[in-house]
Amino acid sequence: MRAVQLVAHGTPGRFEMRELPDPRPGEGEVVVQVMACGLNHLDLWLEENGLPIQPSLPRTAGCEIAGRVTQVGPGVTAWRPGDRVAVQSNIFCDQCEFCQQGEESLCLRSELLGIQRDGGFAEKVLVPARLLVALPPTVDFPTSAALTLAGSTAMHMLTHRATVKAGEWVLVMGAASGVGSAAIQIARGLGARVITTGTTEAKRKLGLQLGAEYALDPADARWTSEVRKITNKRGVDWVMEHVGGDVLPKVMECLARGGAIVTCGATAGRQITFDIWPFFVKQQRLIGSYGRNRADMRATLDWAAAGKLKPVIHAIYPLERVPEAFAALRQRQVLGKIVIQP
Ligand SMILES: [Zn+2]
Repeated sequence: MRAVQLVAHGTPGRFEMRELPDPRPGEGEVVVQVMACGLNHLDLWLEENGLPIQPSLPRTAGCEIAGRVTQVGPGVTAWRPGDRVAVQSNIFCDQCEFCQQGEESLCLRSELLGIQRDGGFAEKVLVPARLLVALPPTVDFPTSAALTLAGSTAMHMLTHRATVKAGEWVLVMGAASGVGSAAIQIARGLGARVITTGTTEAKRKLGLQLGAEYALDPADARWTSEVRKITNKRGVDWVMEHVGGDVLPKVMECLARGGAIVTCGATAGRQITFDIWPFFVKQQRLIGSYGRNRADMRATLDWAAAGKLKPVIHAIYPLERVPEAFAALRQRQVLGKIVIQP
């Protein structure tokens, strides 16, 4: 089978198209023919060696996989060749105390698909069968590959880590990002009112099309006071944040008393300082969110099947153009998701 492998870290890293032996499923494993695989910031961190873990190279990246089961290993009874599936990218152990409670995103022995084992920028991928989630018949492969990682991350943030209710104000950072574009739609689906941000006119326009009532430019120094003005000086109930760096202390200025920031990323920086005084006086909360549970994956695909959650697909690239896809995402000129179709 063909696979695009990262052979040397860097910005850009060095990729090679390689012919590899077809994977063979062991006990509890399945082989999935990759029909589509989404590109994510996680892949860029692998490329530049920016993760706290040191993956060995060569490595096939790609963690947002949709495809068809082609082979099942011994002990696999729930799946058959031909089944249409999405693959959960946080490889949970299914045995620790958190997995036992269905909190797979808190797994004590979690690994990342496409980082610690080969992922989906290949014709086939070998994964533990427990990672599979059935794809509803009306959800096509590119839709799944553009939603199941970023979309289920947003689902986990809004419906599990947060409890967003009808009528509440939600500020979603980064309308054009995978997480942001899904978070806007999920917040609207839950009946909330949405303010979003975008660094270009096109990104702000997309935010409004997805259901936000206001789309602000975070480069404008007054954007946080604009949020307070929109909410009659009250501030928002929730902020969905995935940028980190200087952005996180800024969004605190937008938060209502008793409000909460849910954060799932740090693309702009991992260290922050903020004034803890107004934070405790206003009884606000900062909530971490990481990955998703299978329940979030199922909910995401159910919302997609019901037409309530649509992916924003920037472009679909063939396997040969994976390096180009990485470069496009790194330049931050992407509206929505890039999907690779082997
Ligand atoms: Zn576990």
